[in-house]
Amino acid sequence: MEADIVIIGGGIAGLWTLDELRRNGVRALLLENRTLGFGQTISSQGIIHGGLKYSLKGVLTASADEIREMPLVWRECLSGQREPNLSKTNVRSHCCYLWQTRALSSQAGMLGAQLNLRIKPKNISDHQRPEILRETPGHVYRLDEQVLSPSSLLNSFRNRLSPYLLQIDESEGVQLHVEKSGVVSAVTIRHDSREETISCRAIMMSAGVSNTLLSEQAGRKQPMQLRPLHMTMVKGALPMFQGHCIDGAKTRMTITSEYLGDGQTVWQLGGNIAEQGTGQTSEDLIRFAARELSEILPAVDTSDLEFATYKIDRAERKVKLGMRPDTPQILKHKNVLTCWPTKLAFAPRVAERIQQMIQKEFGIEKHSEEWSLDELSEWKTPEVAAAPWSNVEGWYDAQGQKLSVPNDVNPLKQAG
Ligand SMILES: Cc1cc2nc3c(=O)[nH]c(=O)nc-3n(C[C@H](O)[C@H](O)[C@H](O)COP(=O)(O)OP(=O)(O)OC[C@H]3O[C@@H](n4cnc5c(N)ncnc54)[C@H](O)[C@@H]3O)c2cc1C
Repeated sequence: MEADIVIIGGGIAGLWTLDELRRNGVRALLLENRTLGFGQTISSQGIIHGGLKYSLKGVLTASADEIREMPLVWRECLSGQREPNLSKTNVRSHCCYLWQTRALSSQAGMLGAQLNLRIKPKNISDHQRPEILRETPGHVYRLDEQVLSPSSLLNSFRNRLSPYLLQIDESEGVQLHVEKSGVVSAVTIRHDSREETISCRAIMMSAGVSNTLLSEQAGRKQPMQLRPLHMTMVKGALPMFQGHCIDGAKTRMTITSEYLGDGQTVWQLGGNIAEQGTGQTSEDLIRFAARELSEILPAVDTSDLEFATYKIDRAERKVKLGMRPDTPQILKHKNVLTCWPTKLAFAPRVAERIQQMIQKEFGIEKHSEEWSLDELSEWKTPEVAAAPWSNVEGWYDAQGQKLSVPNDVNPLKQAG
């Protein structure tokens, strides 16, 4: 079996790139050793950032500069006006709210205007506020950044690309054939008792936290840094709400919501609280999160809510100590491209760049003839990863007391 490029890892970076390459007539296949989006993509808060969050210090960082173009690209894809057509994806909201815990400042609005962001926060009047923000002091802004459901997004790609998505065994599901020259000429893939060798001209590593290990197997260990987060989930009769509570130059808390049915909604709490929480036990973080919620959203009564937490690492290209990369990162060694999108929002950029690189660097061009995948017709298509809240071991009350009987499924094993 021959392909132009084999992509290892089916998170947002690998999936968007596969879609781009397929649309450009490139013979591309994607290998997934667990479930699509396992790890970061399924856990992400699904916000298509336009840069404001990354410019709170009053400087237009490289990230904000590049990221300001992203919401329009996504908006067009999500409305079906541009490929990939993602119009079946569940968009949780077309905007986020921004509010501050200190009444005096309207810094967020000022910054958007100064920094020439495409999407600027709009100061909204009291009667335009969502109910939940009625009691907060200070200005409230609306920011037209879309928030989407990661599992629905992953399903959209699965439906579009299933013949090209291959399930491999979790352990030793792929073996790279590295030539003396350092070039990877083929991969042998395994699932259950099946085995297939695919020759290829290029490899893309988009395996998130596993990129370092895989790139080492391909001949050069590419430098990666992990940024740990401890996320809190809150379940109950909560409204659908997406917003950032800004405290000075920091995002004190980012709240995103998904409706679960039966009047129940789950909130994910990210931002500073998830970074600070990495050293805390689950129970301590839950107590802290409940206190924070009451402080930043006085309208929320935490007494009937259920809480749970999970730990997850953000995988990024290694940069200077204490720094974070601002833009999508692609490292090339021979014919292997190792990539970290840095943000979900940057996936279209990664795909575009990989398409350009394989054309320019490896001379891979569009094929006009059909590509027969007969040898792979029986090969299993990977499922989409379970959302972090769907297999929680046990939910807790706001005081950190366990409520439900634990099941035997570890949410981190299911959904990163
Ligand atoms: C809690 C959290 C919230 C976030 N919120 C946002 C947000 O709101 N907006 C935003 O823009 N960004 C956000 N991000 C960042 C964003 O989620 C990531 O940048 C992005 O999802 C990374 O995608 P990826 O495809 O590189 O990796 P991943 O999503 O980690 O996917 C890697 C894939 O590779 C597979 N894999 C691993 N090893 C192998 C192997 N050996 N063989 C085959 N497959 C393998 C995995 O199973 C997985 O499917 C958030 C991240 C986190 C952790």
